[in-house]
Amino acid sequence: MIDLSNLKLITGRDPILMKPAEKFDFNNPPCDPWDLAEAMVKIMIDNNGMGLSACQVGLPYAVFAMIGEPNHVMFNPRLVDVSNETITLEEGCLSFPGVLAPIARARHIKIRFTGPDGQTTTKKFTGMSARVVQHEMDHLNGVLFFNHLPRFKREQIFKKAAKGKINVKSQNDSFFAPLELAANELDRQRKVSRQG
Ligand SMILES: [Zn+2]
Repeated sequence: MIDLSNLKLITGRDPILMKPAEKFDFNNPPCDPWDLAEAMVKIMIDNNGMGLSACQVGLPYAVFAMIGEPNHVMFNPRLVDVSNETITLEEGCLSFPGVLAPIARARHIKIRFTGPDGQTTTKKFTGMSARVVQHEMDHLNGVLFFNHLPRFKREQIFKKAAKGKINVKSQNDSFFAPLELAANELDRQRKVSRQG
């Protein structure tokens, strides 16, 4: 069983953020799903996030948390419907503090997932929740939000972020310089759909 007592938010250019997630096996669980759900929700809230994927705390499983009433923790989620209608909004990521980029996302989505209780359900989300779901689904595929942008746009955004005044401990040149490298690596590894 994995020790969940020391999970930490992973930021910057870390290979785990670029790898597709593995299925969480409820028949042979690597940890208690309730404990994992609780730990992820806590880290999400402590960092003022709206969503958090397992890769962002160093775990390779297809699990993400999303803020709401109630908070959701979705295991082995799968998008079953995505609207053609999109909304473009500035988006950020807990793993890349200070980086904001306009990303087009579907307005409505439908997702099928298993809860920590092992029950599988389908739910519809719209607007900001739909955006969070799509952002986290990208994480589970090893895709980062800024990879939806063309390269020149990313470079602008990283430059802007590096000059930002947000007081984040990890925010300095050595944090941002490798981001463009990470983004280019991802571009080579997979074809990300260009939106926005
Ligand atoms: Zn993220």
